[in-house]
Amino acid sequence: MTITPIQLTGLPDGVEVRRSSRRRKTVSAFREDGRTVVVVPQRMPADQIRNHVSELVGRLSRRTSTPLRSDTALLAHAERLRTRYLPEAPTPASVTWSTRQRRRWGSCTTAERTIRVSTLLAEMPGFVLDYILVHELAHLIRSDHGPEFSALVARFPQTELAEGFLQGFDHARTIGPGEEPSGPQ
Ligand SMILES: [Zn+2]
Repeated sequence: MTITPIQLTGLPDGVEVRRSSRRRKTVSAFREDGRTVVVVPQRMPADQIRNHVSELVGRLSRRTSTPLRSDTALLAHAERLRTRYLPEAPTPASVTWSTRQRRRWGSCTTAERTIRVSTLLAEMPGFVLDYILVHELAHLIRSDHGPEFSALVARFPQTELAEGFLQGFDHARTIGPGEEPSGPQ
């Protein structure tokens, strides 16, 4: 069996593709020294490789980005935060990751006691996710953002740090990659 790394344009950073003479159809991927290695059959055309790569890389990054990758683990984690900081809040019915939450970090429906948080948070420091979870859990007690609500959220010790982090992130996102922020005139 021979395995040859190949050059392919349009691959995400940190991805290496290797062709295997033994492979007929299957494509596999694994992590090696911080890179994602994708092994493809010897004769697979480049466009097919690209499709496989984007799919596999998405799957692998979901697998490695956070130890709380499953909704079950996320719910258990939220339950720990609730008992610690907001014991008077009811237990949420569900806490789930959402890929649709691009503008909002989290949401809570008080009637159903369901919480959703953006999968973007999985890439951020743990206290940022925790802060959003505490915020949404606090909505199970107060639906508004008034002073009582703020006092509940402030029980989480890294509230200010997390708010600062998210403001910085939003700011960077508004500017967008490659654009210069306009300074004071
Ligand atoms: Zn809110």
